[in-house]
Amino acid sequence: MQAFAYQTPASVADAQKAGSGAGARFLAGGQSLLPAMKLGLSAPESLVDLGAIAELKSIRVGNGTITLGAMATHASVAESQAIRDTLPALAELAGNIGDRQVRNRGTIGGSLANNDPAADYPAAVLALGATITTDRRSIAADDFFKGLYETALAEGELITSISFPVPKKAGWHKFKQPASRFSLVGVFVAQTAQGARVGVTGAGPCAFRVKALEDKLSASWAPASCDGVKIDAGGLNSDLHGSADYRAALIPVLARRAVAAAG
Ligand code: FAD
Repeated sequence: MQAFAYQTPASVADAQKAGSGAGARFLAGGQSLLPAMKLGLSAPESLVDLGAIAELKSIRVGNGTITLGAMATHASVAESQAIRDTLPALAELAGNIGDRQVRNRGTIGGSLANNDPAADYPAAVLALGATITTDRRSIAADDFFKGLYETALAEGELITSISFPVPKKAGWHKFKQPASRFSLVGVFVAQTAQGARVGVTGAGPCAFRVKALEDKLSASWAPASCDGVKIDAGGLNSDLHGSADYRAALIPVLARRAVAAAG
């Protein structure tokens, strides 16, 4: 690991200033960034630790919206009674990320900015039509995930919060890669006033929606609506854990289970 400067701003304004310097990177829980630095895959000149900014850790539930500060840890989302009462599928997703250490350190802002192809939150962000707020603008979920580890964020842009409109119903199901517990494939479904939305992670270079499933579920919100929906395996991930065809076959199966879980 190369030498780097380390800063601990106490406000978003100070983090913004520190993060705009050449070679600066934001540090959330370090669950992805620190291993990447140890492996020499990332070599920031300066780390801007967001851990001392209290406002980034907030969890607010009310008026049909859940708003998570970017530094809300997976454990804090999983354990929030207000989220468990309002949108239990989101709390369940957070509670099934990695292991206890990862959940206590890892954050939603870090997960979204990192955009690992197998990360769990992106499926929920897409299915729920969330809005990602940064220090510069608001980004709709549909415009945020651009490709493998690639997002709409510009250099030095800081995620401050993520807002989830509470849907009529939501469910989630993940087929775990047993060693890492990341999603081999994970599916989040939501029944909203505008129709059904289906977010999938683990299957492609980044999370995506599945229109064929959304059309069927908008017509009839029932597990059986997912039966027989064929997913094109072209462009899906293929590795030693599962072929593209296998991942394609899993998507409707997991969607069926997610709808059943949603009720
Ligand atoms: P960091 O590692 O600190 O940062 C990651 C990236 O995001 C960096 O580029 C950083 O500069 C940037 N960043 C951080 N915060 C912000 C911000 N507010 N604005 C802009 N950029 C920002 N994830 C899953 O979804 N499911 C799993 O099952 C799962 N299993 C895991 C198992 C292990 C063993 C490990 C190590 C990780 C696992 N993860 C899993 C990932 C984990 O959930 C973290 O969310 C993810 O690694 C991001 O970590 P972090 O929040 O600590 O961010």
